[in-house]
Amino acid sequence: MKKNNTWIVDDIQPVPFHSGFWGGSNKRYWVSLINATYAVDAQVRHILTDEEMILATDDYNLSDRTKDNELHFAQGNAYDIEWDKLNLKRDYFSLAPEGDYYADISDWEEMMHLVRNHQIEERVDSKFRAIHEESDNVRQLKHSSDEIEFPMEFLNNLGLKCQPLFLMKVFNVGQGDTIMLIFPDMSIWLVDAFFEKHREKHQMSYDDLVDLIDEKYSDFRVERVIISHLHRDHCLSVNQLARDIGAESIIYTFPNTKLTKTALGALSNTRILRKIDDIESVQKGSTKITLTPACKLQYKRKNDHNANGIIVELETNNSHVLLSGDSPWQQLKEVVLSKNISGKHKCYKVSHHGSITGYDHNFINGYAPHLAVISFGIPNRYGHPDRRVLCGLSHNGAFLSGTAILRKKYLPIPIF
Ligand SMILES: [Zn+2]
Ligand SMILES: [Zn+2]
Repeated sequence: MKKNNTWIVDDIQPVPFHSGFWGGSNKRYWVSLINATYAVDAQVRHILTDEEMILATDDYNLSDRTKDNELHFAQGNAYDIEWDKLNLKRDYFSLAPEGDYYADISDWEEMMHLVRNHQIEERVDSKFRAIHEESDNVRQLKHSSDEIEFPMEFLNNLGLKCQPLFLMKVFNVGQGDTIMLIFPDMSIWLVDAFFEKHREKHQMSYDDLVDLIDEKYSDFRVERVIISHLHRDHCLSVNQLARDIGAESIIYTFPNTKLTKTALGALSNTRILRKIDDIESVQKGSTKITLTPACKLQYKRKNDHNANGIIVELETNNSHVLLSGDSPWQQLKEVVLSKNISGKHKCYKVSHHGSITGYDHNFINGYAPHLAVISFGIPNRYGHPDRRVLCGLSHNGAFLSGTAILRKKYLPIPIF
């Protein structure tokens, strides 16, 4: 066995019907694997596989045909993989980087070239337990209901003529999420941090973010970085950010599934790492910010980072902003439809890059967002965003926008 050939499953996503990867009558899945050795570069490879190879989770409606996940793919499982013995295919559909390929595994015999590596899993697990025990619960921020306004000069520089309550920037980071919230008390919050090494022309890079903060927000403090959940496309750059821009705290919640080394990396700055296991609200002027960790919701799903994250809401007298991470629609429905926000202007960061797992007709009908922003990259293997999600949102009257179609580095949204 060659060195560096251990890989950990980061994410498992159903292949949409309209993509070129649908296997006739068989439902197929993308399994994303991260190399267990390189935490910084986060080398990623993909396996395309059949439904029966995936460990059942209730959301995908697989019958619980096995309790044993020894052979089945599940998030956080580690495998030693002999790639050259697998059925490798070039990736034409998603125009992945030159030389990129994926393994197509459709029978148990091929699965034999993957040897489960419990040792690596346990190593990551014990490191995480140590970090988790060490990290404090989130300390309460000072609540302030005093009205604070952005300096007019600052707004003029941004081309804004009147006072917003806060500014939101949805960065075009490709197939992932990074959102910046800028408050008039001169603080910045980031929800997720994903910056790719290789990027498209209009895509925001890590250096672009550092430059942006230097140029426009040098007087601001980066108060919080919130990890919506521990998938690579949300947490890859968290640790780097904390180090370089002096973030004051990194917020996460217990993931209820095994981790990759990338996720461990995001949590490695234990000095400023804070966990939440309760709903937390912070008042900043007229804006109320609420963080809801998945453990406080009725809808639960194990072995899936998407269903074990933090949902962020920002509410003003006139507006409601919903930052959903990749949360399943059942959880979003629970969070949003229990509140009386019907008269407000609603801005929704569409869950899971527009995947069907974050969408339900009744949820969208009930929430009825005015603006729906989808963070995704073109091309991507997963067929994001799903056509049914786009149709459903626009039929409900939402104005749709997507980071990949902006031809700009970010979408600025002032909230009033
Ligand atoms: Zn994601
Ligand atoms: Zn995710």
